Amino acid sequence: ETSPPATQASTAQSQALFSRAQRVTPGGVNSPVRAFKSVGGSPRFIREAHGAYLTDADGHRLLDYIGSWGPMILGHDHPAVREAVADALSRGTSYGAPGEGEVRLAETVTRLTGVERVRFVNSGTEATMSALRLARGATARKFIVKFRGNYHGHADGLLVEAGSGLMTNAEGHLGRAAPSSAGVPEEYAALTLVSEYNDPVALDALMAERGHEVAAVIFEPVVGNAGVLIPTPNFLAALHRVREHGTLLIADEVMTGFRLSLRGATGLLGLTPDLICWGKIIGGGLPVGAYGGRADVMNYVSPQGPVYQAGTLSGNPLAMAAGLATLQVLENEPALYVKLESYTAQLAGGLSAAAREAGVPLSVNRVGSMLTAFHQDAPDGSIRTYTDAARSDTAAFARWFQQMLAGGVYWAPSQFESIFVSAAHGEAELSRTLDVARAAYLHLG
Ligand code: PLP
Repeated sequence: ETSPPATQASTAQSQALFSRAQRVTPGGVNSPVRAFKSVGGSPRFIREAHGAYLTDADGHRLLDYIGSWGPMILGHDHPAVREAVADALSRGTSYGAPGEGEVRLAETVTRLTGVERVRFVNSGTEATMSALRLARGATARKFIVKFRGNYHGHADGLLVEAGSGLMTNAEGHLGRAAPSSAGVPEEYAALTLVSEYNDPVALDALMAERGHEVAAVIFEPVVGNAGVLIPTPNFLAALHRVREHGTLLIADEVMTGFRLSLRGATGLLGLTPDLICWGKIIGGGLPVGAYGGRADVMNYVSPQGPVYQAGTLSGNPLAMAAGLATLQVLENEPALYVKLESYTAQLAGGLSAAAREAGVPLSVNRVGSMLTAFHQDAPDGSIRTYTDAARSDTAAFARWFQQMLAGGVYWAPSQFESIFVSAAHGEAELSRTLDVARAAYLHLG
């Protein structure tokens, strides 16, 4: 089979919606990567989602590997989540006063992850922003350290050498030197020191020089936002050493939390950070973020302590219900993680083999149900840094992506993102994906 996959019929409805959207919203989208800038073409507008599939505005069924960028680990419209949200809905949508849902989700998160205290917010951005304010308040220091190509949301001080949408901007080239966005004053960016992921020597050197003024080191324990990057044992050891300087270690598990295991990436890798940030899965597809850690650190947060942080909709009863239902399913069915692992390992192996047969250079990084297939000539698993990832052939990726989409498989529309497999992905989805991928690589080769 050497012919490209059949193009899905008309996308007229999606295109019409995109035109309307562009008249009322910047770029026609509410988050940049959705606009398909780096892969070209018009984005699909989604009408509904069930299990492993999206249905777009023209009625095409798309096999979904984005999973709303991570939250939908159980698949879309999971009955347990739907019922929990419907039940919560029957009791009102927001109270602005505490409710039992917040207590139950906090009890579940602390029990599963080992943190002593947790505070709910409304997004991953709020979680990392609040955790950094807390670290600065608790240490009375100004500086933070982040890693090139890691993305922690869009708070000012974190839009510095950032990954995700910043890595594939409008022109399709890499993010600029610090700061990564217009509108971030250099004075803010100057408080963010940047080091290279998976470079323990650079981190040790930076901390030896500046450690005494660094409140926190924030990191993705497995990177998803430069494509998937896996930390080396030596780098993890260097991360732990930052504490020798009185610096707090903050694991950003917004993407990896409850995805790579019930104890996240930190549990999987044996890390013991001072603070952890969550988002995505913890809200079961509704807007939630959270940050947590040891009681002595978390007690700096208001009203217990002097670090202010608040939210009109924080602890929202619908979001708490969706998050709790999701975590309950994951906890009650541990075999789901085995299934996710097995599916994604077969997907990785299948993509590698298909690319090899077609003569397409490809290097696959995978952990659990996160995967990036970089279009470049390197052994699988050997891409370790932002600089490595950046060597990928983004034009080849874009062509491959369009072939996949035409074949009804909805991959992440950027070379520098992870894809996310859900528990609703089964044998039929795997073989269909590999059939379409095989044809797409042959088309490229
Ligand atoms: N941190 C990480 C690791 C993320 O992947 C993201 C989003 O993709 C964020 C933080 C920001 O989360 P949100 O988009 O919910 O603000």
